[in-house]
Amino acid sequence: MYKSIVFDLDDTLLDTRAQLVPPALKEALNALEEKGLSIPFDEALHAFEVGYFPWPKLIEAFAETHDHVLPTEDYVDLFVKKFYERDVLEDIFLHSDVVTLLDQLKSANHLLLLLTAGSTKTQTQKIKKLNLQTWFSTMSIADPNKGESKTQKLKQLLEQHQLTPQETLVVGDRYESEIMAAIELGCPSALIERHAPRSPGPDPTHTLASVTDVWDLVQ
Ligand SMILES: [Mg+2]
Repeated sequence: MYKSIVFDLDDTLLDTRAQLVPPALKEALNALEEKGLSIPFDEALHAFEVGYFPWPKLIEAFAETHDHVLPTEDYVDLFVKKFYERDVLEDIFLHSDVVTLLDQLKSANHLLLLLTAGSTKTQTQKIKKLNLQTWFSTMSIADPNKGESKTQKLKQLLEQHQLTPQETLVVGDRYESEIMAAIELGCPSALIERHAPRSPGPDPTHTLASVTDVWDLVQ
């Protein structure tokens, strides 16, 4: 039924919350602290768990009630740079059930496409370290530094591979990111429910407890 499956990377295929978020968050919060604004790690982690791009709000809330020396937007810029544009020095890996899923999908001749958002440098490092070219025909990065969006990049992927929206399933963990892009372009979507609550809007086609449930959708 679905000819092609478009996967998000962070927290869809790669468990960044276990592997990358803690060190990146520590580094980003340390950078703020060096510039005079202190935010506890646990509060920042909680904000990340429950919200989509919660950083401006979180930093504003702390700047309002705590001593600080820089304008709020400077702290936000510094945080975003440190958190999202860092070098991936850690050994990262896909869980074995994700590897099994990708192997199965590839063996069943599904066209697998990657659609990730973030700094080109950081996302390219992740893609290389995870050997994603083993499974994916095209890997597309929507880099907000270049003004690129997932909607734009998804549209390009459909055109490049001559796919109709209806035959392309988009899988991801962020309603506000890849799922909204899918809805906008008319692609069926599968949201892995990790973050709550999501923004209001049309429901995704499917909601899944785990990315491995994708296999049942494509049988
Ligand atoms: Mg994600």
